[in-house]
Amino acid sequence: MKFLLFNDFENLKIIESEMNGDFLVRVRMCGICTGELMDWYVKSKAPYTPGHEIVGEVIKSPIDKFKVGDRVFVHHHAPCLSCEYCKRGEWTACETWRKLKIYPGGFSEIISIPKNIYEVDVLRVPDFVSDEDACLIEPLACSIKAIRKANPNSYDNCAVIGLGFMGLLNSKLLKIFGVRKVIGFDFHDNRRDIAKNWAKIDEVYSPYEFNFNEKFSLIIVGPPTIEAIEFALKLADKASRIILFAPTPPSEFLKLNINYIYFNEISIIPSYSSSHEDTRIALNFISSGLIKPSDLITHKFNFDEINKAFKVARDPKAIKVIINIGGGR
Ligand SMILES: [Zn+2]
Ligand SMILES: [Zn+2]
Repeated sequence: MKFLLFNDFENLKIIESEMNGDFLVRVRMCGICTGELMDWYVKSKAPYTPGHEIVGEVIKSPIDKFKVGDRVFVHHHAPCLSCEYCKRGEWTACETWRKLKIYPGGFSEIISIPKNIYEVDVLRVPDFVSDEDACLIEPLACSIKAIRKANPNSYDNCAVIGLGFMGLLNSKLLKIFGVRKVIGFDFHDNRRDIAKNWAKIDEVYSPYEFNFNEKFSLIIVGPPTIEAIEFALKLADKASRIILFAPTPPSEFLKLNINYIYFNEISIIPSYSSSHEDTRIALNFISSGLIKPSDLITHKFNFDEINKAFKVARDPKAIKVIINIGGGR
Protein backbone atom coordinates (compact mmCIF):
# COMPACT_ATOMS: atom_id res chain seq x y z
CA MET A 1 0.00 0.00 0.00
CA LYS A 2 1.05 3.60 -0.61
CA PHE A 3 1.31 6.40 1.93
CA LEU A 4 2.54 9.99 1.98
CA LEU A 5 5.80 10.92 3.66
CA PHE A 6 5.89 14.67 4.25
CA ASN A 7 9.32 16.24 4.75
CA ASP A 8 8.50 19.85 3.92
CA PHE A 9 6.17 21.64 1.52
CA GLU A 10 8.63 21.14 -1.34
CA ASN A 11 9.26 17.51 -0.52
CA LEU A 12 6.21 15.26 -0.41
CA LYS A 13 6.85 11.65 -1.34
CA ILE A 14 4.52 8.74 -1.82
CA ILE A 15 6.13 5.63 -0.35
CA GLU A 16 5.20 1.97 -0.69
CA SER A 17 4.98 -0.24 2.41
CA GLU A 18 3.24 -3.22 4.03
CA MET A 19 0.50 -2.51 6.57
CA ASN A 20 -0.41 -4.80 9.45
CA GLY A 21 -2.74 -4.35 12.40
CA ASP A 22 -5.86 -5.72 14.11
CA PHE A 23 -8.19 -3.07 12.75
CA LEU A 24 -7.48 -1.82 9.25
CA VAL A 25 -9.30 0.80 7.20
CA ARG A 26 -8.92 1.51 3.50
CA VAL A 27 -9.03 5.32 3.25
CA ARG A 28 -11.58 6.69 0.78
CA MET A 29 -11.06 10.42 1.31
CA CYS A 30 -9.00 12.66 3.54
CA GLY A 31 -9.09 16.44 3.86
CA ILE A 32 -6.07 18.71 4.26
CA CYS A 33 -6.41 20.43 7.66
CA THR A 34 -5.46 24.09 8.04
CA GLY A 35 -3.16 23.01 10.88
CA GLU A 36 -1.19 20.91 8.41
CA LEU A 37 -0.39 24.10 6.50
CA MET A 38 1.28 25.90 9.44
CA ASP A 39 5.04 25.96 8.83
CA TRP A 40 6.22 25.73 12.45
CA TYR A 41 3.73 22.94 13.22
CA VAL A 42 4.65 20.65 10.34
CA LYS A 43 8.37 21.36 10.88
CA SER A 44 8.01 20.06 14.43
CA LYS A 45 6.43 16.83 13.15
CA ALA A 46 8.25 16.10 9.88
CA PRO A 47 9.06 13.64 8.52
CA TYR A 48 5.54 12.36 9.08
CA THR A 49 2.31 11.31 7.40
CA PRO A 50 -0.33 14.02 7.78
CA GLY A 51 -4.08 13.52 7.39
CA HIS A 52 -6.74 13.24 10.09
CA GLU A 53 -9.98 14.11 8.28
CA ILE A 54 -10.78 10.59 7.27
CA VAL A 55 -13.56 8.48 5.84
CA GLY A 56 -12.77 4.92 4.86
CA GLU A 57 -13.92 1.36 4.66
CA VAL A 58 -13.19 -1.37 7.21
CA ILE A 59 -11.05 -4.14 5.70
CA LYS A 60 -10.18 -5.96 8.94
CA SER A 61 -11.97 -5.87 12.29
CA PRO A 62 -11.56 -8.00 15.43
CA ILE A 63 -14.91 -6.85 16.92
CA ASP A 64 -18.53 -7.57 15.93
CA LYS A 65 -19.45 -3.89 16.07
CA PHE A 66 -17.70 -3.37 12.70
CA LYS A 67 -17.85 -5.64 9.67
CA VAL A 68 -15.59 -5.70 6.65
CA GLY A 69 -17.02 -3.22 4.13
CA ASP A 70 -18.51 -0.83 6.71
CA ARG A 71 -17.98 2.77 5.68
CA VAL A 72 -16.63 4.63 8.69
CA PHE A 73 -15.43 7.94 10.02
CA VAL A 74 -12.15 7.44 11.90
CA HIS A 75 -11.03 9.89 14.56
CA HIS A 76 -7.26 10.18 14.93
CA HIS A 77 -7.33 10.17 18.76
CA ALA A 78 -9.59 8.83 21.50
CA PRO A 79 -9.59 9.17 25.30
CA CYS A 80 -9.25 6.32 27.84
CA LEU A 81 -12.60 7.27 29.47
CA SER A 82 -11.31 6.46 32.98
CA CYS A 83 -8.48 8.85 33.99
CA GLU A 84 -8.94 11.98 36.11
CA TYR A 85 -9.18 14.20 33.00
CA CYS A 86 -11.73 11.90 31.41
CA LYS A 87 -13.81 11.89 34.61
CA ARG A 88 -13.97 15.68 34.28
CA GLY A 89 -14.88 15.43 30.60
CA GLU A 90 -11.58 17.03 29.60
CA TRP A 91 -11.07 14.41 26.91
CA THR A 92 -8.26 16.08 24.96
CA ALA A 93 -6.14 16.39 28.12
CA CYS A 94 -6.22 12.59 28.57
CA GLU A 95 -2.77 10.98 28.20
CA THR A 96 -4.25 8.18 26.08
CA TRP A 97 -5.94 10.73 23.80
CA ARG A 98 -2.59 12.49 23.31
CA LYS A 99 -0.47 9.37 22.91
CA LEU A 100 -2.55 7.03 20.75
CA LYS A 101 -2.89 7.73 17.06
CA ILE A 102 -3.81 6.14 13.81
CA TYR A 103 -0.91 4.78 11.79
CA PRO A 104 0.67 6.14 9.64
CA GLY A 105 -1.78 9.06 9.04
CA GLY A 106 -4.77 9.73 6.83
CA PHE A 107 -2.88 10.29 3.58
CA SER A 108 -2.38 6.59 3.17
CA GLU A 109 -4.23 3.90 1.23
CA ILE A 110 -4.61 1.79 4.38
CA ILE A 111 -4.44 2.87 8.02
CA SER A 112 -4.11 0.85 11.21
CA ILE A 113 -6.36 1.88 14.10
CA PRO A 114 -5.38 1.15 17.74
CA LYS A 115 -7.91 -0.62 20.00
CA ASN A 116 -8.83 2.38 22.10
CA ILE A 117 -9.68 4.42 19.01
CA TYR A 118 -11.76 1.77 17.21
CA GLU A 119 -13.66 1.11 20.43
CA VAL A 120 -14.36 4.77 21.23
CA ASP A 121 -14.32 6.93 18.11
CA VAL A 122 -14.85 5.08 14.86
CA LEU A 123 -18.39 5.80 13.65
CA ARG A 124 -20.39 4.05 10.95
CA VAL A 125 -21.46 6.54 8.27
CA PRO A 126 -25.07 6.34 7.01
CA ASP A 127 -25.41 5.52 3.29
CA PHE A 128 -26.96 8.88 2.48
CA VAL A 129 -23.96 10.83 3.82
CA SER A 130 -21.36 11.40 1.08
CA ASP A 131 -17.64 10.65 1.47
CA GLU A 132 -17.05 14.40 1.07
CA ASP A 133 -19.19 15.22 4.10
CA ALA A 134 -18.03 12.22 6.13
CA CYS A 135 -14.35 13.19 5.87
CA LEU A 136 -15.28 16.62 7.23
CA ILE A 137 -16.80 15.22 10.45
CA GLU A 138 -13.47 15.82 12.22
CA PRO A 139 -13.08 19.54 11.44
CA LEU A 140 -16.79 20.10 12.12
CA ALA A 141 -16.31 18.36 15.49
CA CYS A 142 -13.50 20.83 16.31
CA SER A 143 -15.90 23.69 15.55
CA ILE A 144 -18.60 22.09 17.67
CA LYS A 145 -16.20 21.76 20.59
CA ALA A 146 -15.27 25.45 20.29
CA ILE A 147 -18.89 26.54 20.14
CA ARG A 148 -19.79 24.33 23.12
CA LYS A 149 -16.93 25.87 25.11
CA ALA A 150 -18.13 29.34 24.08
CA ASN A 151 -21.61 28.48 25.41
CA PRO A 152 -23.39 30.96 23.10
CA ASN A 153 -26.74 32.53 23.96
CA SER A 154 -29.36 34.51 22.08
CA TYR A 155 -27.98 37.86 23.33
CA ASP A 156 -24.45 37.25 22.10
CA ASN A 157 -23.00 39.72 19.63
CA CYS A 158 -20.33 37.57 17.95
CA ALA A 159 -17.22 38.25 15.93
CA VAL A 160 -15.44 35.57 13.91
CA ILE A 161 -11.89 36.51 12.98
CA GLY A 162 -10.67 34.64 9.91
CA LEU A 163 -13.17 33.23 7.42
CA GLY A 164 -11.26 30.25 6.09
CA PHE A 165 -12.86 26.82 6.23
CA MET A 166 -12.87 26.65 10.05
CA GLY A 167 -14.01 30.26 10.46
CA LEU A 168 -16.87 29.58 8.05
CA LEU A 169 -17.93 26.49 10.01
CA ASN A 170 -17.71 28.48 13.27
CA SER A 171 -19.78 31.28 11.73
CA LYS A 172 -22.46 28.92 10.49
CA LEU A 173 -22.65 27.10 13.83
CA LEU A 174 -23.06 30.38 15.72
CA LYS A 175 -26.04 31.16 13.47
CA ILE A 176 -27.42 27.65 14.05
CA PHE A 177 -27.03 28.12 17.81
CA GLY A 178 -29.16 31.26 17.50
CA VAL A 179 -26.89 34.07 18.64
CA ARG A 180 -28.11 37.63 18.10
CA LYS A 181 -25.59 38.68 15.48
CA VAL A 182 -22.43 37.41 13.77
CA ILE A 183 -19.87 39.67 12.14
CA GLY A 184 -16.99 38.11 10.21
CA PHE A 185 -13.52 39.51 9.52
CA ASP A 186 -11.15 38.46 6.77
CA PHE A 187 -8.67 40.16 4.45
CA HIS A 188 -9.93 38.18 1.42
CA ASP A 189 -13.16 39.20 -0.28
CA ASN A 190 -13.87 35.69 -1.66
CA ARG A 191 -14.03 34.43 1.93
CA ARG A 192 -16.17 37.33 3.09
CA ASP A 193 -18.60 36.57 0.23
CA ILE A 194 -18.91 32.91 1.25
CA ALA A 195 -19.46 33.94 4.87
CA LYS A 196 -22.38 36.12 3.80
CA ASN A 197 -23.88 33.73 1.27
CA TRP A 198 -23.22 30.33 2.85
CA ALA A 199 -22.90 30.93 6.59
CA LYS A 200 -25.57 33.69 6.33
CA ILE A 201 -23.78 35.90 8.82
CA ASP A 202 -24.95 39.45 9.31
CA GLU A 203 -21.98 41.58 8.27
CA VAL A 204 -18.46 41.10 6.95
CA TYR A 205 -15.43 43.40 7.04
CA SER A 206 -11.81 43.53 6.15
CA PRO A 207 -10.00 44.10 9.49
CA TYR A 208 -8.54 47.30 7.93
CA GLU A 209 -11.93 48.92 7.42
CA PHE A 210 -13.50 48.30 10.85
CA ASN A 211 -13.91 51.33 13.12
CA PHE A 212 -14.20 49.47 16.48
CA ASN A 213 -17.40 51.34 17.43
CA GLU A 214 -19.11 48.03 18.03
CA LYS A 215 -18.03 45.65 20.82
CA PHE A 216 -18.55 41.90 20.97
CA SER A 217 -19.51 39.50 23.75
CA LEU A 218 -18.13 36.40 22.00
CA ILE A 219 -15.15 36.37 19.65
CA ILE A 220 -13.65 33.37 17.86
CA VAL A 221 -10.06 33.79 16.71
CA GLY A 222 -9.12 31.53 13.81
CA PRO A 223 -5.76 32.76 12.47
CA PRO A 224 -2.81 31.36 14.47
CA THR A 225 -1.18 34.74 15.04
CA ILE A 226 -0.60 37.16 17.92
CA GLU A 227 -1.97 39.96 15.68
CA ALA A 228 -5.32 38.18 15.38
CA ILE A 229 -5.57 37.80 19.18
CA GLU A 230 -4.66 41.48 19.67
CA PHE A 231 -7.38 42.35 17.17
CA ALA A 232 -9.83 40.23 19.20
CA LEU A 233 -8.90 42.10 22.39
CA LYS A 234 -9.72 45.38 20.63
CA LEU A 235 -13.15 44.00 19.70
CA ALA A 236 -13.90 42.62 23.17
CA ASP A 237 -16.73 44.06 25.23
CA LYS A 238 -16.79 43.87 29.03
CA ALA A 239 -17.40 40.27 30.20
CA SER A 240 -16.68 38.85 26.76
CA ARG A 241 -15.27 35.43 25.88
CA ILE A 242 -12.45 35.12 23.38
CA ILE A 243 -12.11 31.61 21.97
CA LEU A 244 -8.64 30.74 20.66
CA PHE A 245 -9.28 28.27 17.88
CA ALA A 246 -5.69 27.78 16.70
CA PRO A 247 -2.22 27.76 18.28
CA THR A 248 0.39 30.46 17.74
CA PRO A 249 4.02 29.32 17.27
CA PRO A 250 5.62 28.16 20.58
CA SER A 251 8.23 30.93 20.48
CA GLU A 252 5.67 33.77 20.39
CA PHE A 253 4.18 35.61 23.37
CA LEU A 254 1.24 37.94 23.84
CA LYS A 255 1.66 40.94 26.13
CA LEU A 256 -1.50 41.25 28.21
CA ASN A 257 -2.66 44.15 30.36
CA ILE A 258 -4.01 42.06 33.23
CA ASN A 259 -5.50 45.13 34.92
CA TYR A 260 -7.64 45.67 31.81
CA ILE A 261 -8.48 41.94 31.48
CA TYR A 262 -9.37 41.77 35.17
CA PHE A 263 -11.62 44.81 35.48
CA ASN A 264 -13.31 44.05 32.17
CA GLU A 265 -13.66 40.36 33.10
CA ILE A 266 -12.52 39.14 29.70
CA SER A 267 -12.12 35.37 29.39
CA ILE A 268 -9.59 33.89 27.00
CA ILE A 269 -10.54 30.29 26.29
CA PRO A 270 -8.50 27.92 24.12
CA SER A 271 -10.30 25.16 22.24
CA TYR A 272 -8.00 22.38 21.09
CA SER A 273 -9.15 19.64 18.72
CA SER A 274 -12.29 17.62 19.56
CA SER A 275 -13.51 14.49 21.30
CA HIS A 276 -15.73 11.47 20.67
CA GLU A 277 -18.65 13.56 22.00
CA ASP A 278 -18.09 16.27 19.40
CA THR A 279 -17.65 13.82 16.50
CA ARG A 280 -21.00 12.22 17.32
CA ILE A 281 -22.70 15.62 17.36
CA ALA A 282 -20.94 16.50 14.08
CA LEU A 283 -22.14 13.31 12.38
CA ASN A 284 -25.62 14.00 13.71
CA PHE A 285 -25.60 17.60 12.42
CA ILE A 286 -24.46 16.38 8.99
CA SER A 287 -26.87 13.45 8.72
CA SER A 288 -29.81 15.58 9.84
CA GLY A 289 -28.99 18.11 7.10
CA LEU A 290 -28.36 20.95 9.56
CA ILE A 291 -24.98 21.70 8.02
CA LYS A 292 -23.23 20.48 4.87
CA PRO A 293 -19.49 21.13 5.20
CA SER A 294 -18.85 19.65 1.72
CA ASP A 295 -20.41 22.86 0.29
CA LEU A 296 -17.07 24.47 1.14
CA ILE A 297 -14.87 22.04 -0.83
CA THR A 298 -13.19 24.09 -3.55
CA HIS A 299 -10.65 21.52 -4.75
CA LYS A 300 -10.50 17.76 -4.97
CA PHE A 301 -7.37 15.87 -6.02
CA ASN A 302 -6.37 12.27 -6.51
CA PHE A 303 -3.70 10.80 -4.23
CA ASP A 304 -0.98 11.01 -6.91
CA GLU A 305 -1.61 14.79 -7.16
CA ILE A 306 -0.86 15.36 -3.46
CA ASN A 307 2.06 17.76 -4.13
CA LYS A 308 -0.21 20.02 -6.14
CA ALA A 309 -2.98 19.67 -3.54
CA PHE A 310 -0.77 21.00 -0.72
CA LYS A 311 0.34 23.92 -2.94
CA VAL A 312 -3.25 24.82 -3.79
CA ALA A 313 -4.35 24.46 -0.14
CA ARG A 314 -1.89 27.21 0.88
CA ASP A 315 -3.55 29.68 -1.50
CA PRO A 316 -6.21 31.83 0.25
CA LYS A 317 -8.52 31.25 -2.72
CA ALA A 318 -8.82 27.61 -1.67
CA ILE A 319 -11.33 27.05 1.11
CA LYS A 320 -11.20 23.27 1.50
CA VAL A 321 -9.00 20.81 -0.33
CA ILE A 322 -9.65 17.09 -0.10
CA ILE A 323 -7.83 14.08 -1.46
CA ASN A 324 -9.68 11.23 -3.07
CA ILE A 325 -7.71 8.13 -2.16
CA GLY A 326 -10.18 5.47 -3.21
CA GLY A 327 -13.65 6.88 -2.61
CA GLY A 328 -15.96 9.13 -4.52
CA ARG A 329 -19.38 8.16 -3.35
ZN1 LIG B 1 -7.32 19.28 11.90
ZN1 LIG C 1 -8.38 9.52 30.02
